[in-house]
Amino acid sequence: MILQCPSCRSIRIAARHTGRKVCTSVGTAAGAASGVAAAASGARIGASVGAIGGLPGSVLGGLLGGIVGALAGGSAGAALGDFVDDNILDNFECLDCGHTFSVETD
Ligand SMILES: [Zn+2]
Repeated sequence: MILQCPSCRSIRIAARHTGRKVCTSVGTAAGAASGVAAAASGARIGASVGAIGGLPGSVLGGLLGGIVGALAGGSAGAALGDFVDDNILDNFECLDCGHTFSVETD
């Protein structure tokens, strides 16, 4: 598909992905927070298991929970951001005249 500026007919078009960027950041932060919170309960189990194995299970569990949560939140945020970009925001910008516009995607 070739995008064309509806204002000046230029084909020098850039995708802005504003919603994607914002939602990915928010999702990553929220995911990390909830991941750490979930890991806190898991950390208690990890601590007892880790104590047996001689590993700092609580630290490991907390780290893993935060990373997994951040990744999950980040990808969920990116998906949400794509939806916002596609449906709500003007997602494309003309590099010639600066006109911003959205394109219907199937
Ligand atoms: Zn233009």
